[in-house]
Amino acid sequence: MARDLFISDLHLSPERPEIIRLFCDFMMQTAPASDRLFILGDFVEYWLGDDDPAPGLQPAFDAMRQLADAGSKIYLMHGNRDFLMGETFAANTGCTLLSDPCIMEIAGEQVLLMHGDTLCTDDIAYQQLREMLRNPAWQADFLAKPMQERVMMAKVLREKSEQEVQAKSMEIMDVNPQAVVNAFTEHHVKRMIHGHTHRPAIHHLDINGADCTRIVLADWYTQGHYLEVTGPDEYRMVDF
Ligand code: MN
Repeated sequence: MARDLFISDLHLSPERPEIIRLFCDFMMQTAPASDRLFILGDFVEYWLGDDDPAPGLQPAFDAMRQLADAGSKIYLMHGNRDFLMGETFAANTGCTLLSDPCIMEIAGEQVLLMHGDTLCTDDIAYQQLREMLRNPAWQADFLAKPMQERVMMAKVLREKSEQEVQAKSMEIMDVNPQAVVNAFTEHHVKRMIHGHTHRPAIHHLDINGADCTRIVLADWYTQGHYLEVTGPDEYRMVDF
């Protein structure tokens, strides 16, 4: 039986070298026994383009390359922090970029994979910002700026978002229940896996009489976390 692993929201940053080490351990000890590794967004704290010097993160990227070279398939979906990771990064690390959302066959079932931010429709200010940041023209313009200017712009955006997050209620930053129902029905799936909210859980829902599950991955701010799938009813979440 195939073994697939799912992780998200590692937010790798030189400010948390212990989490970079934890990821490298995971890639050497846990990931090699899997067929596919899915990284569902916010792998790094921020990404300013594939020429980002990414201080301190090289060991994590080397660990990806090593796993890919050993024969595991690595898929990477963008999150709201690292949506500028491009084909150069993918080629260097040996991973394949996934669009958000996408449907993959997992343990014989069609499963919807998302980062999760598009489900947080109550956060209107965030959704507006997302629309700007995901606009190809805005991205091309941003990537053409000198790195130093990109660093400054990203810093301003992060500070603004941190202030806004503090002022928002917990409910606003969680998924909208109707957006979840819509995602299941639009994509004709009974299972979805996402991250982003940092609220790990396996939610069972009845949607038009169908048993559906929404699996939410944990962040890696203080520990490691992965979901292991070895069969249609073999979903196991592991903290370490
Ligand atoms: Mn996120």
